[in-house]
Amino acid sequence: MTNICYPNKHDLLSVEQALLEIRQAIKAITGQELIALPQALGRILADCISSPIDVPPLRTAAMDGYAFAAGDLADGRQAELQVIGIAWAGKPFLAQQAQGQCVRIFTGAVVPEFADSVIAQEQIEINGDTVSLPADWQPYKNIRAAGSDVKQHEELITAPKKLSARDLSLLAAAGVEQISVKRKLKIGFFSTGDELVALGEPLAIGQIYDSNRYLLAGLLSDPNHTVSDLGIVADDQLKLEQTFKNAAQQHDVIISTGGASVGDADFVKQTLEKCGQVNFWKLAIKPGKPLAFGKIGDCWFFGLPGNPVAVLVTYEKFVKPALEQLAGAPPTQALRLRVRCDSRLKKSPGRQEYQRGILCQSADGELAVRLAGQQDSHQLKVASQSNCFIVLDADNTGIDAGEMVTVEPFAAVL
Ligand code: AMP
Ligand code: MG
Repeated sequence: MTNICYPNKHDLLSVEQALLEIRQAIKAITGQELIALPQALGRILADCISSPIDVPPLRTAAMDGYAFAAGDLADGRQAELQVIGIAWAGKPFLAQQAQGQCVRIFTGAVVPEFADSVIAQEQIEINGDTVSLPADWQPYKNIRAAGSDVKQHEELITAPKKLSARDLSLLAAAGVEQISVKRKLKIGFFSTGDELVALGEPLAIGQIYDSNRYLLAGLLSDPNHTVSDLGIVADDQLKLEQTFKNAAQQHDVIISTGGASVGDADFVKQTLEKCGQVNFWKLAIKPGKPLAFGKIGDCWFFGLPGNPVAVLVTYEKFVKPALEQLAGAPPTQALRLRVRCDSRLKKSPGRQEYQRGILCQSADGELAVRLAGQQDSHQLKVASQSNCFIVLDADNTGIDAGEMVTVEPFAAVL
């Protein structure tokens, strides 16, 4: 890990530079495991998968109707066909057919060998055991060819990919039962701060409830993570050192919140320096200025700020892409939209800001955003009410109501 210089004003590192540094440092894990298809939702496909069969395996009817051979009929005039049997989905029609005969067929049924066309039942007239086709009947319609979805040996899914419900149904259609995925990341997280109290205990004067651990537990929830909550660690360098060393032996990644600044009770940076390698950055981002990034042995370390909204922003912007990269997932990017801003936004130049906003869509589809409330980095209620970040570039000096801004809706990624 290189030590980066701070080309920005006031010694702040830009978001892009910090991301580049993280991207260059982290290599994807190599471990894989074989799992059953129903367990694979959200996991990261490790090896490309080819289809063992044609999908569909045979020619099938695309709708309910009658299967016939177009060559039995003269073009452009009404025709009569005798119905000699039924082809059901799962129960094929196997008997012989003579010229001028057809078979009643249902969607998904195998098309009998003699037939090359299916006419929809709405288009014919039934007269006893014969059907009459209209003069404008079309040959070769309503049949799905074998392999018309996927051919045998064709690649079904290219690795790496985070598997969606759509992917699982594709794999199931091809009969794939077991899937090779990246192993899960082992992630430990804890809070630091003498003022912090776990839920269920009364607050003494000066104490606050630890909210960051619940935020992080939620943000880290992912089928590719095995997450351990390591509790609260006091502002005590020895205790921090013990926690860092123990946690580093058991995890791929450790995330702490608090104590990452430069106050007298902020020991994260010194402790990380003592136990491993450290890159401590003051970032040109608001909220979330201090961020410690480093390694203890083989374990990556992220020391996030203490203020909960700064935890949210630094997790989304730095930790999430780092975890994706480490897990071997293809990178995702937050969906960004340009929308009208109905609030006036205050902003001083120097740091990129992620203000909490409420994005709405009117009945005619027009998008507009407004500020969710006050923007102090401890204000969790405003964060809870918001549904997007309003992203303001470092050199922006504020927005008047009615101007266009960039927003990132939460949980919408490309
Ligand atoms: P620090 O980075 O430790 O100086 O913390 C900055 C601010 O965030 C202080 O007001 C802390 O009380 C607060 N804070 C730190 N950790 C937590 C936490 N786990 N939950 C809620 N607030 C926290
Ligand atoms: Mg603290």
